[in-house]
Amino acid sequence: MSRRRQIYEGKAKILYEGPEPGTIIQYFKDDATAFNAEKKGTINGKGVINNRISEHIFTLLGHIGIPSHFIRRLNMREQLVKQVEIVPIEVIVRNVAAGSLSKRLGIEEGTPLPHTLLEYCYKDDALGDPLVAEEHIACFGWASQEEMQDISAMAIRINDFMAGMFAGIGIKLVDFKLEFGRVFEGDFSRIILADEISPDGCRLWDIKTNEKLDKDRFRRDLGGEAEAYQEVARRLGLFPEGESEVLDLNSERKKRGK
Ligand code: UDP
Repeated sequence: MSRRRQIYEGKAKILYEGPEPGTIIQYFKDDATAFNAEKKGTINGKGVINNRISEHIFTLLGHIGIPSHFIRRLNMREQLVKQVEIVPIEVIVRNVAAGSLSKRLGIEEGTPLPHTLLEYCYKDDALGDPLVAEEHIACFGWASQEEMQDISAMAIRINDFMAGMFAGIGIKLVDFKLEFGRVFEGDFSRIILADEISPDGCRLWDIKTNEKLDKDRFRRDLGGEAEAYQEVARRLGLFPEGESEVLDLNSERKKRGK
């Protein structure tokens, strides 16, 4: 592989300069972190699975008119994306109470919400990504009110689409995180979906058993996290027959002598 300039290394991904101006390569790592990186580990094969799941979801969202940074998958762990200026806000979309919402407001995990709830967190690791109101976003100029309208409308459409898609394969979409970016076209900028959508940033529960099929298995030391990610990919119809060696986690482990 030729030497590429690394732009940024995050907790689960590395960004490299892309082949053309305005493009970036996203490399998906197996590294997993939780609780603002206090807990660190790896989930075997996660990068390969998240690359495929995110490609699949961004492609389907493109078909319903959601613009995103995704251009194409390059290989098992990399995808080519458009360079964006990331809006420093994490958008949390919730259908069922869980995680920090349950803790903050004392609502039992698993309680369905009367309607979809959008929350915003300011992206700042040093501050632990604090929850903020739209008024803070406007006050500090993190995004304009027009941009927030686009972001919230897209988040609701993405949720409607994804909740239906997952329900069709027996999975409840409890909550998830989205990130958006700006692309500049002449004097104008436009908001598009960025980052990734994978079990790292979604809560996915089996509809019948409520078994967790997402990063909470890692966060809460439940075990079986690699198998859970694999199960989501399998139900989405990814890694069909013939590519199954990709997901043969045992053979990967054996090769490493673990
Ligand atoms: N989430 C994420 N990155 C973050 C914070 C949250 O991907 O930095 C996702 C998380 O996986 C979950 C949803 O957003 O699907 C809501 O997370 P919550 O606010 O409940 O935080 P947590 O309990 O995970 O700390």
